[in-house]
Amino acid sequence: MIEIAKTAGFCFGVDRGVRMVYDLLNKGQKVCTLGPIIHNPQVVEDLAQRGVRTVKSAAEVEKDETLVIRSHGVKRDIYEYIDKNKIKFEDATCPFVKRIHKIVKKESEDGKIILIAGDSSHPEVIGIRGHCVGRSYVFSTPSDLRKLIEIYGNFVDNALILVSQTTFNLALWRKCIEIVKKLCTNVKIFATICNATSIRQREAMSLADRVELLVVVGGRCSSNTKKLFNLCKTRCKTFWVETADELRGFDLGPLPPKIGITAGASTPAQIIKEVHEVMSEKLNEELKNVECPDNSSEENFAEMLEQSGQQAVYGVGKKVRGVVTAVLKNEVQVDIGGKQAGVIPASELSVDSSLKAEDVLEKDDEVDLIVTKNSDQDGIVTLSKKRYDVSKGYEMLLEAMEQDKTLNGVITDAVRGGVLAITCGVKIFIPISQLSERKVENASDFIGKAVDFKVLDVNVNKYRAVGSVRKVLSELRQLKAEKLWKEISVGDVRTGVVKSITNYGVFVDLGGVDGMIHISELSWSRVKHPSEVVSVDDEIEVVVKSLDKENSKISLSYRKEADNPWNVFVKNYSVGQVVEAKIYSIKSFGVFVEIIPGVDGLIHISQLADRPIGLISDSFSVGQVVRAKIWEIDYDSKRVSLSVRALMETEARKEENENLRAVEKIEGVEVSNGGVVVR
Ligand code: SF4
Repeated sequence: MIEIAKTAGFCFGVDRGVRMVYDLLNKGQKVCTLGPIIHNPQVVEDLAQRGVRTVKSAAEVEKDETLVIRSHGVKRDIYEYIDKNKIKFEDATCPFVKRIHKIVKKESEDGKIILIAGDSSHPEVIGIRGHCVGRSYVFSTPSDLRKLIEIYGNFVDNALILVSQTTFNLALWRKCIEIVKKLCTNVKIFATICNATSIRQREAMSLADRVELLVVVGGRCSSNTKKLFNLCKTRCKTFWVETADELRGFDLGPLPPKIGITAGASTPAQIIKEVHEVMSEKLNEELKNVECPDNSSEENFAEMLEQSGQQAVYGVGKKVRGVVTAVLKNEVQVDIGGKQAGVIPASELSVDSSLKAEDVLEKDDEVDLIVTKNSDQDGIVTLSKKRYDVSKGYEMLLEAMEQDKTLNGVITDAVRGGVLAITCGVKIFIPISQLSERKVENASDFIGKAVDFKVLDVNVNKYRAVGSVRKVLSELRQLKAEKLWKEISVGDVRTGVVKSITNYGVFVDLGGVDGMIHISELSWSRVKHPSEVVSVDDEIEVVVKSLDKENSKISLSYRKEADNPWNVFVKNYSVGQVVEAKIYSIKSFGVFVEIIPGVDGLIHISQLADRPIGLISDSFSVGQVVRAKIWEIDYDSKRVSLSVRALMETEARKEENENLRAVEKIEGVEVSNGGVVVR
């Protein structure tokens, strides 16, 4: 029996890089790659035959060529060179490697020392170091790390960052973590071993434990293939081959009943298939040479070979293409080209569980699928369209994230902490904080809505992705803001929407930029709280009072000149006029009164009575209405002074005159302005 590891072959990052090159070729472009696109001579040779050049530096790229940066990534200065020289390029750096670039860049800019577990001569490690701004060190074993730490006195004065090459050995990495935790006090550890690598390594070791002979397939320059070989050779008899032809020349000795095949991340499926075929031939040969009491063992072997062949073609996780032969209520039947029938259960048709089978597929549709169950006893291969779409969808999400594209999706569910939206055939999680620029109270209000969003994070291995509507809104806002700042001037009348209300004023969204109306600019009358005048979401007309472009501040006014109470006052009041005014504030030097809404006046303490008064609050109180004479109007500073005393004196004089007149009348003397008349 020959068992092929499920994880054998191209990992996500390599697959993506190789596809990128083939896609460019299919579009008719001239392509060159910075170093071999993968560590597999057969693929590199095939590409070379199609005209793809491998260059050693960006300086070698010709004008009509598109440079592809391979999944290992490159140093920052190469990007700078490409940029400066306007070289056409496609970046196939694996997103997992890109993440390490970002970490080391940010942390080293913050002054931290970067420790990298890996092979210092490997292009990925060279690229990672090339994104470090300050000090960085590479070590390949726990003992190297220990020595490094000792040389630098345990880095006691430094903050350290520990990362690893994505293909670093998991067991060694764990030992390195123990060492840094023990010897260094200030270290932050980032887990950067790629899951694809660790899963492949684990599966290879487990396969090596189950079989008696293991064939590891991969290029001689592939470090992850080398690691697989080293991990497995201590567990069972292990051979490392690059191609099926190489295997043909090997003397494997007597073949055991259980044989395994695994392959490095840069090994194409075709080579794995060929290796499997050669192993099968070798097994077949060996069985032919065994004397059999009858012919049945040859037939049995043919059956076995067929089965093992089927396993290779329809192994779980394999991508296949089929043609729909029947759409039933609970399943869709598919012809996948072999002897076995393919069936897609209804639940495996789409991530949108509300769709019926006939909504998703029709008879004769060509469809890409993933094998989920390996040939049942009754000869059925169970398939999933949903899983294929999901893996494709995650690739699209990754691309959208890298290229900062805006995607559109429909929100289908409210879940803990946010919502799920369907896009590119997968569900993406949008946290509640990323649903809007405003605070969202109830995420389920968004169900059924179509939203534009950006992809913030994608974890292809765990099938998780996070999106943000808020980011799209902020970017739109930013664009609007730039436009608004170009157009706006003091004195403009603009329409805005009240966004928030504070004790001291109101923030108004003018379309990309918020302006502020101070409480004093909300009304001509006195306002205790802005909510007396406006409410959140009110659309209001405002006047631009001042602009501070540097600090992005806009002061607004909600008061209209036509309602200006000073104009009303000037028109209707003059010096000497007696008014009734309400006290709204008492100070040690006098009281402030409201003459008409929006126009205040001051009655100085000396003008409050016709005699000296001690404490004002003993005689007057806030809210009290007093009669006073307008004493002075300062038109420039719009100030009004009033006097109760002047009014009292006038009234006292009037009263005195009246009294005098009454007395004189009694005594036969009449008082007039002209003097005394004796009757
Ligand atoms: S091994 Fe992992 S990190 Fe490396 S290219 Fe493949 S997916 Fe990317």
